[in-house]
Amino acid sequence: MEFSHVAFILYLVSSFFVHTYGGWMSSKNSPDHVIERSFHALGTANNIRIFGRDDERPMDLAYARIMEIEDRMSAFKRGSDVWALNSNAGVAPVRLHDDTFDLLKRAVAFSRLSDGAFDCTIRPLVELWGIGIKKNYIPSVQEITEKMALVCYKDIVFDDGAMSAELTEKGQAIDLGGIAKGYAADEVKRVLAGCGIESALINLGGNIVALGGRPDGQPWRIGIQNPLVAAGEYLAVVSVVDKAVVTSGSYERYFIEEGVRYHHILDPRAGRPAQSGLLSVTVVCGNSTDADALATALFVLGCDNGMELLKNFGGKAVFIDEELQITASEGMTNNFEKLG
Ligand code: AMP
Ligand code: MG
Repeated sequence: MEFSHVAFILYLVSSFFVHTYGGWMSSKNSPDHVIERSFHALGTANNIRIFGRDDERPMDLAYARIMEIEDRMSAFKRGSDVWALNSNAGVAPVRLHDDTFDLLKRAVAFSRLSDGAFDCTIRPLVELWGIGIKKNYIPSVQEITEKMALVCYKDIVFDDGAMSAELTEKGQAIDLGGIAKGYAADEVKRVLAGCGIESALINLGGNIVALGGRPDGQPWRIGIQNPLVAAGEYLAVVSVVDKAVVTSGSYERYFIEEGVRYHHILDPRAGRPAQSGLLSVTVVCGNSTDADALATALFVLGCDNGMELLKNFGGKAVFIDEELQITASEGMTNNFEKLG
């Protein structure tokens, strides 16, 4: 599985945290005491902050769960569930761990819901383009056509009794890169809540999940990155309590050739990087698994078609187009603020 390399949504550090930083150091049991960990996993930069508890154990458990998900769902790791599925395409079914089985089912359901704009069998095209891995490689039309023929989420056969799945054609392959970071972030939230944590901010490569609100009771303020600037400049802010905020953007991994931006979000129906007129989509939703898949699908569909999917799904989103025009979906009024 591929994951985006850099988290471009950064938290807007409120003056509350800046001003009380010294307090974290001295009063370990106060609600704003923070335990923070930054690490590389799932092919991306991650950061978790847990408030109000002077105990490393919840963080250790969360970290271990992320590593377990990576071990099972990475397309690169020899021996992972996804690696086994892909190696056995057109050959045999593969028994999966419960979590991989469930997430793959959700990925297929979402592929259907988005009418294939999101397609978890996109891997042959992802490998062909190798965005972020190969150097500025643009495949031929013939290569693209060959790989497109392999991309079809309907070709995954599940056996619920045996907890197994099978890709029916040789050469087919699963890629959970568009949904697994979101799933991992939900899992971290579940683990931390299970430890009694009431306030935490989880950022797995731009998949942000807020557990509760800030320790001072206010909502978290999460900045939406200007997609044309390296990092740290925000065009808007969403305020959330206990929600996921997930962005897909063409600025995360790309190269530019003759004025065209070739990026890592592929349109399965065109076999090439989606050209929907967007630079980024940010989804706000109750859980980050759905938000992650939805953000990828909305990016492929573009603003107008994306709004239709959003209505069916019931999520909220902010679209930023190539002119840096910001369009917020209905329901993004109270908790959303444009900057500048
Ligand atoms: P995200 O950053 O969540 O939008 O996911 C992008 C990643 O998902 C890519 O790096 C690929 O691994 C995979 N991917 C690319 N295009 C699609 C697509 N149309 N449907 C599902 N997964 C995709
Ligand atoms: Mg995604």
